[in-house]
Amino acid sequence: MVVRELDNHTFRLAVAQFDQAAERMNLDPNLRERLKLPERSLLVNVPVRMDDGAVKMFAGYRVQHDSSRGPSKGGIRYHPDANLGEVAALAMWMTWKCALAGLPYGGAKGGVQVNPKQLSRAELQRLTRRYAAAIFPLIGPDKDVPAPDVGTDPQVMAWMMDTYSMQVGYAVPGVVTGKPLSIGGSLGREEATGRGVVDVTLEAMRHLKLDIQTATVAVQGFGNVGANTARIMAETGARVVAVSDVSGGLYNAKGLAIPELLAWYRANGQTFSSCTMGDRITNEELLALDCTVLVPAALSEQITEANAAKISCRILAEGANGPTTLEADRILTDKGVFIIPDILANSGGVIVSYFEWVQDMQRFFWNSLDIRDRLHEIITAAFHRTLQFSRQRGVTMRMAALMSGIDKVAQAHLSRGLYP
Ligand code: GLU
Repeated sequence: MVVRELDNHTFRLAVAQFDQAAERMNLDPNLRERLKLPERSLLVNVPVRMDDGAVKMFAGYRVQHDSSRGPSKGGIRYHPDANLGEVAALAMWMTWKCALAGLPYGGAKGGVQVNPKQLSRAELQRLTRRYAAAIFPLIGPDKDVPAPDVGTDPQVMAWMMDTYSMQVGYAVPGVVTGKPLSIGGSLGREEATGRGVVDVTLEAMRHLKLDIQTATVAVQGFGNVGANTARIMAETGARVVAVSDVSGGLYNAKGLAIPELLAWYRANGQTFSSCTMGDRITNEELLALDCTVLVPAALSEQITEANAAKISCRILAEGANGPTTLEADRILTDKGVFIIPDILANSGGVIVSYFEWVQDMQRFFWNSLDIRDRLHEIITAAFHRTLQFSRQRGVTMRMAALMSGIDKVAQAHLSRGLYP
């Protein structure tokens, strides 16, 4: 049963994945009912004074899916389509993601229904501070720790940290992660999700005996995850043949000049709409490219029943959360695509968020080599545990990742028992 308030296609996808895994692992029926629904969901209506003097209302959410293993953790998304069901799905995925990586966190997610590109910087700041004040009772370094996601960045996290700190009366860097370095951010956090995607992709290539020097890579999405994945892939010697954003994509069979492209993107209003540094292609064409590695790093449910048959990559490394629908997953698996599921492939972000939080709590900071090495260690270990689990149990990588994550959460619930 999905409660009516949460019912939307993304939540249904998360629950369907959970059900498949729960069935396969014979999960205790009581726990199964319990883990399907979030612990706590908050809906806030955020009033913002716009630059023209008018007050506009924005719907905001914070959903805590599970906190049995520690504070709940997860990003905040600013997007015009943000809604309670989607935020709840993303919160559930955070629970499994943190458990799979072995981080002492539960899962949460937040969102505001807004197009941040349509706000001035001052409006964005007022929106962020008012939203932070509205979810204040729920968050805290030992309770629930937000981070960036689609449409938010270190500056937004800085305003959240400041708003929280002003309420309690002293600086609390550990209340959010993904902050600027000046207020307790961590080295390596900005690129962490992309670096993690590359780390696990390289492990998958080793496993499949593919050579990085001859590999071709296509990346959908050029936000934090897509842009860093493309950059680091190119640095490791792979040929990044295609990238895209909402305006469409660019293709060059010989490989795009990624550093130049990144500089161009920054200098030209963060859109490829007028870019001529490659042949223009659509997002649909990008997804269908014949390539070694395809990285969906945009929004959820991009690979569906309608286009899955056309996908012709060897490895699908899911940089985005929930990019593949259930039907598409089946089609790709039948085609023999090696899928590195989202909760594993994109876990580098929350892994380095964990490092940031630990550094903030200890008031002791690490160097970038420490960050890179420890990220590599945790994410490659998670990859190999998942691969081994998938082979031993004869399940897909996605099922293996979900089952391992869910099992850790189930163990925590069984140890703690049901209150009261
Ligand atoms: N928003 C990122 C994710 O989906 C990072 C979350 C975090 O660092 O807490 O995993």
